[in-house]
Amino acid sequence: MDFSKMLHKFTVVPSLTEDLAPLQRIAYNMWWSWEPNAIGLFRRLDPELWQSTRHNPVEMLGILQQTTLETLKLDEGFMAHLRMVDEKLTEYLQEKTWFQKNCNGSLKMQVAYFSMEFGLHESLPIYSGGLGILAGDHLKSASDLGLPLAGVGLLYRQGYFRQYLNNEGWQQEYYPENDFYNLPLIMERDENGVPLAFELEFGSRRFMVHIWRVQVGRVPLYLLDTNLEENRPEDRLITAQLYGGDQEMRILQEILLGIGGIRALRALGIVPNVCHMNEGHAAFLALERIRLLMEKRGIRFSEAREIVTAGNVFTTHTPVEAGIDHFPADLLDKYFARYYKSLGLSRDEFLGLGRQNPRNTHESFCMAVLALKLAGHANGVSQLHGEVSRRMWKNVWPELPEEQLPLESITNGVHTRTWMSNHMTSLLVRYLGTRWLDDPTDHNVWRRIARIPDAELWRTQQSCREKLVDFARKRLKDQLVKVGATTKEISTAEEVLDPEVLTIGFARRFATYKRGTLLLRDLDRLSRILNNPEMPVQIIFAGKAHPQDQEGKELIRQIVQVSHQERFRHRIVFIEDYDMEVARHLVQGVDVWLNTPLRPMEASGTSGMKVAFNGGLNMSVLDGWWCEGYQRNNGWAIGKGEVYEAATTYRAPGWPR
Ligand SMILES: *Cc1c(COP(=O)(O)O)cnc(C)c1O
Repeated sequence: MDFSKMLHKFTVVPSLTEDLAPLQRIAYNMWWSWEPNAIGLFRRLDPELWQSTRHNPVEMLGILQQTTLETLKLDEGFMAHLRMVDEKLTEYLQEKTWFQKNCNGSLKMQVAYFSMEFGLHESLPIYSGGLGILAGDHLKSASDLGLPLAGVGLLYRQGYFRQYLNNEGWQQEYYPENDFYNLPLIMERDENGVPLAFELEFGSRRFMVHIWRVQVGRVPLYLLDTNLEENRPEDRLITAQLYGGDQEMRILQEILLGIGGIRALRALGIVPNVCHMNEGHAAFLALERIRLLMEKRGIRFSEAREIVTAGNVFTTHTPVEAGIDHFPADLLDKYFARYYKSLGLSRDEFLGLGRQNPRNTHESFCMAVLALKLAGHANGVSQLHGEVSRRMWKNVWPELPEEQLPLESITNGVHTRTWMSNHMTSLLVRYLGTRWLDDPTDHNVWRRIARIPDAELWRTQQSCREKLVDFARKRLKDQLVKVGATTKEISTAEEVLDPEVLTIGFARRFATYKRGTLLLRDLDRLSRILNNPEMPVQIIFAGKAHPQDQEGKELIRQIVQVSHQERFRHRIVFIEDYDMEVARHLVQGVDVWLNTPLRPMEASGTSGMKVAFNGGLNMSVLDGWWCEGYQRNNGWAIGKGEVYEAATTYRAPGWPR
């Protein structure tokens, strides 16, 4: 890696005069990303720049010329729009929250939510998939409810890879640099304006860490960064890539997230009484909390462990062991030899914390086991996944029967306002009022949904599908231009798909267990269905394969090859570079969302929920959330809940996430 390229690029943000200063304030609070009026405001600033910056208002403000901004001040319509959004933000931040109304004063609580990835918006590419989107939606919902919660994660120089396909449909990866000064990041500083920093020392590694903040409504998200000039090159790489590198890189990232995360909170003066580990990646945090408590109170490991465990919560997302981080003992020796001692533990006692059977020295150190042993509450992400997890981890508690294991399930959810289309939101507001926006769990409000005339609902669906088709054509055209297609080929992109045709969406990671090509098993039959003159059907695919997953890439290649056949050219499209923007268009515009995982590999899945909010129907294998969501009259179940042998032996590189 070329380090000279990794130095900070400085972008000079034009100094905004007082009248325009609110633009900056709005751009630096991710609240804008779920407030349609704010999105409209930025688009109005410069529609083309809005597109080309991947909807990044901070970058836009950096690029917009001072003169453009001066002209805006004279635009009364724009200034009124700006004032309205600014007032909305103030109101959002000041209004009495659900938490204040329901738990006022009675609860002194501070939650910290630790995750390797956070999916807040496409312009902040520090996420890969479902795990990160869930974390992002969680922060947004915590903000809406007013929960006293702070997120903790890593700030990656490059984030997750971007995808494009070569002419044959083979996935190519590239890693654009995140320019921190073009992102809504605020560096945390002390009262003298000096960046807050702390040092971590593990094994022979010793490095400084900086803390950045992303403001998500009322909730801060703290992101750790080791790419500092004073650090050695190998230490600067720790925050280079999300899920990149080898096992050693992974343990270093997890030390940074868990132990560094707790130290960062301390440096910020935040003392959490509940720490949430989103997957096992963050489990080292429990050790650091124990160490600090031992130090503070002069107590032993066992006492501190009991107290700390009561305030830890763990969510597991993974239905097979192969998908979870395991580290060999020598890697732990390398980095934790001194740390064992500071906890007053022998090597065996320490390593036993990561083993189902502490005495089995052949077991490697498993982060999920560590989390399960040091969390007072643990949960899977759907009812079925809860059952699967209890079976999977029963040996962690050999003394308990399976149904009594302290491992429950909490089915995933999504942040409604992030994923519902504006068309659907306004339709619902017209017929239900605005109460559902504040309390979507009030079932009485939802009864009124029957008042919406079918024709009106259908019109809403039609316009969202039209938007999706427009978007797909545009993306396809851009894809063709990039690979140097002929003018003729490029112009055909404008004719693919049909806004009037029943549209099936299939978008997710291309891991083989999701069986993305199941639909292509009988191409002649598929062709008859898609090209039926009376009732045609079209399919839009999207999704990335893990860079090391050759089989996953092969699935993508097959789909692209099929989409190039003359009989499918207008009916099957693969959109590159699946991200939150592509996801939003798809879940808002499809009629049917198809999901064909190998049960019970889909721990929960959330994309289907996003579709349901937008009036689309799910057609899915009975797996994950759909086992609970399927009501016989709201979509289709594929199969009857069969489990095949292949699911229990599944292994793939880079899986899960
Ligand atoms: C919602 C979402 C996911 C997770 O959905 P699954 O149902 O687990 O596939 C993944 N990636 C993106 C971009 C999403 O928006």
